[in-house]
Amino acid sequence: METTVPTEPICALVWTGAQNFEFVALAEPELHDGESLIRLNAATICGSDLHTISGRRSQPCPSVLGHEGAGVVVETKNPDLEIGQRVTFSVTAPCLECDRCQQGRTAKCRSVLKTGHEAFNSQWPLSGTYATHILLRKNQPVAVLSDAIANTTASVASCAGATVMAAVEAGGDLRGQRVLIVGLGMLGLIACDVAIQRGASAVYASDPNPERRQWASALGGVHAFDPAEEAVDSGSIDIAFDFSGVNAGVNTAISSLDIGGRAVLAGSVATSAAINVNPETLVRNWQTITGVHNYEPRHLQEAVDFLAHSGIDWNAVISAPIALEEVPATVEELINGDKDKDCKRYLRTAVVLSDGAAIDKDLLRH
Ligand SMILES: [Zn+2]
Ligand SMILES: [Zn+2]
Repeated sequence: METTVPTEPICALVWTGAQNFEFVALAEPELHDGESLIRLNAATICGSDLHTISGRRSQPCPSVLGHEGAGVVVETKNPDLEIGQRVTFSVTAPCLECDRCQQGRTAKCRSVLKTGHEAFNSQWPLSGTYATHILLRKNQPVAVLSDAIANTTASVASCAGATVMAAVEAGGDLRGQRVLIVGLGMLGLIACDVAIQRGASAVYASDPNPERRQWASALGGVHAFDPAEEAVDSGSIDIAFDFSGVNAGVNTAISSLDIGGRAVLAGSVATSAAINVNPETLVRNWQTITGVHNYEPRHLQEAVDFLAHSGIDWNAVISAPIALEEVPATVEELINGDKDKDCKRYLRTAVVLSDGAAIDKDLLRH
């Protein structure tokens, strides 16, 4: 931490535990080989940050949260990037040298570091997107953005979008397949759009929330239903995705499968109870259950390309932007507020990141 004001003011909203945050001013970091400094234009508040803040997931603290974002390269020692490019970036920063990286599982690199997950007093303090700037590490995948994609949409691509691409790849070719999507949060909604555009023969989507079902139905070609009132027949689905992370949803996904069916689980990212799986059913029916967590660099690019032309009504599903200063109060509202609160309607809250100089000096700790 520095007491001098840097040439380009850099401020981070540091999470200090429970629902507490503190603004901290930082000096401009000195870049090492392969690193870049990004001035963030937008971030989006992902549900997994809310899990962290409410204690359902543990991670180093204090830290700068936020792992979804988009911004402009202001300084770079990455030969593949240029100053002024608008970019989004992977949640994971892999080493590219360990056995897992070499085998193409960089998301599970043995020394992986993750945006919005690193201690503020570690070697990577500017790791999160609830800040005016983020430092991108050497080997951290970056996607350069075309004019076709807005900052908030690109921000969504960097987590939800890319994870959906990884899940869809794990599900296999969707053409002509009967697809079930359980959970219509941001991932489920994007998956509906992908399933339609990639030629699924039928797309069923389940969520208790009527507004979410309507957003999915609005894509055209999705049969969205309330799991309390309707169910898909068991044995009627070729590829089922669970994005709900709720065991009832996981069970629905698995029990819906036909012969040769595949269930892709991507929602269970917080502590959850075990489920019962009948091995005889899997054996006799040639079924596969697979899990997907985070994604590979190709999925980030794929998500950016896909979401630039997606049928999703972003204005309906992403909130009007709030300022960085409003993040602590909004997070509290999202966690504790009553469920009819306006901010809870959206699949993402957008944060527009102003210049660090605009942040109220009284809020800043130097
Ligand atoms: Zn996320
Ligand atoms: Zn590695």
